[in-house]
Amino acid sequence: MRYRTRLYIDLNLLKENFQLLKELCPDNQVLFMIKANAYGHGMVPIVRYSVQELGINEFGVATLGEARRLRDELSDLEFEIYVFSDIHLEFQSSFEYYLSRRFVPVISNMADLDFVLSCEGFQYFPICLKFNTGMNRLGFSSAQQQEVIDKLKKTDRTSIFHLMTHLGMASDIIEKQSPCDLQDQCFQEIKNNFLDQGIAIERSSISNSGAIEQKFGLNETHIRPGLILYGPSALHRDVRDRSNWKGKTISRLETYVINSFPVKAGERVGYGGTPAPSSGVIALIALGYGDGFSGRNKAPSIYLDGVEGMILGRINMDMGQVFFPGRDASFVKAGQSLVIWGHDPKEILNLADQTDTIPYEHFCHMTSRVPRVYSK
Ligand SMILES: *Cc1c(COP(=O)(O)O)cnc(C)c1O
Repeated sequence: MRYRTRLYIDLNLLKENFQLLKELCPDNQVLFMIKANAYGHGMVPIVRYSVQELGINEFGVATLGEARRLRDELSDLEFEIYVFSDIHLEFQSSFEYYLSRRFVPVISNMADLDFVLSCEGFQYFPICLKFNTGMNRLGFSSAQQQEVIDKLKKTDRTSIFHLMTHLGMASDIIEKQSPCDLQDQCFQEIKNNFLDQGIAIERSSISNSGAIEQKFGLNETHIRPGLILYGPSALHRDVRDRSNWKGKTISRLETYVINSFPVKAGERVGYGGTPAPSSGVIALIALGYGDGFSGRNKAPSIYLDGVEGMILGRINMDMGQVFFPGRDASFVKAGQSLVIWGHDPKEILNLADQTDTIPYEHFCHMTSRVPRVYSK
């Protein structure tokens, strides 16, 4: 059967990206962020490959549901799962999952810490704490550190498993006294305070992709990359040339032309009747917002055999119009395939820049209608 649109995922490129990461950060352990279905690439095959072929054994998800699915579908493999944000410790049924399936909840507020410390089942369970050092999203505040330490001591905890914080502005240049640097200073103070008061810290981490690309935060035991392992840089376009990252996009989004026809200047095309800006040819592609592709009313460039076209008018649920100015009907034929983004990270980054989005969104938006096809 011929598929309409596919996301091809080359696992060998994941291996190459991981090797580049090891060259950049030879001394750090990797906690690979695979939330949101591995950024749209398929959590189960990505984790299976990462455990079996890359030797990664720590993964981060956002929700308890993601963690459950991963354990259930990969019960033959050994690896750790951290649940970052949607942890649901308050339900009896969910903390039983944490215990029986060994998920590590990332604890970021006092109510959850109290619960874990008071619950007998968690007595020997690893404690992972997240501090808010200035991003102001999740995490204990710096002012709460003494209370946290006192509570740990009162329950005879002499060690925590993982201490972490998250950076709010790692996509910008990180330099002395920049927001990330101030967050790091705050984190180091918290860490030292724990150590000074006799609480050992087994693991610590601060760096997401943007920080890793700038070799920032590599003094911690761990790094927490997401985006760069899937390929693109996480840095903003105007500072991207400062990146040390040279990875390739592991996926290729390929669609095909359903219909093609010439248009004259001013002729209306599709829903809303957008006029063609000049004469040219329209290639109607099998990719719409039902597949997760939306130009958000912007008109990104789309290339066919290296020739630049642009999305014209509204994206439909199942289709989109690509306009090639100045070309005639012979330029494109129904059935021809067309790559929306390929392995050169510039392609998805251009798409993101032109639509005022970020590559994360394009990856995550791909719906289940688009089959993921894996190759090694
Ligand atoms: C998603 C996430 C990361 C990874 O971020 P990238 O920018 O994709 O590298 C790291 N840490 C936390 C807490 C996250 O939520």
